[in-house]
Amino acid sequence: MAIKKCKECKKLVSDSVDVCPYCGAQLKSKTLFLILFGTALIVVYGMSVYMNIGQ
Ligand SMILES: [Zn+2]
Repeated sequence: MAIKKCKECKKLVSDSVDVCPYCGAQLKSKTLFLILFGTALIVVYGMSVYMNIGQ
């Protein structure tokens, strides 16, 4: 767990919260993007390995 700065109100909030407790701004959008991007990379990598085995 870490402390980060809210991009909307600039107050320090916990890294574990989804929404800023001071202004209500969404804080997880970047994390969600990274999870989706990581999952996509794993899927692409898995498919390339599967294609190599199939040949
Ligand atoms: Zn805030």
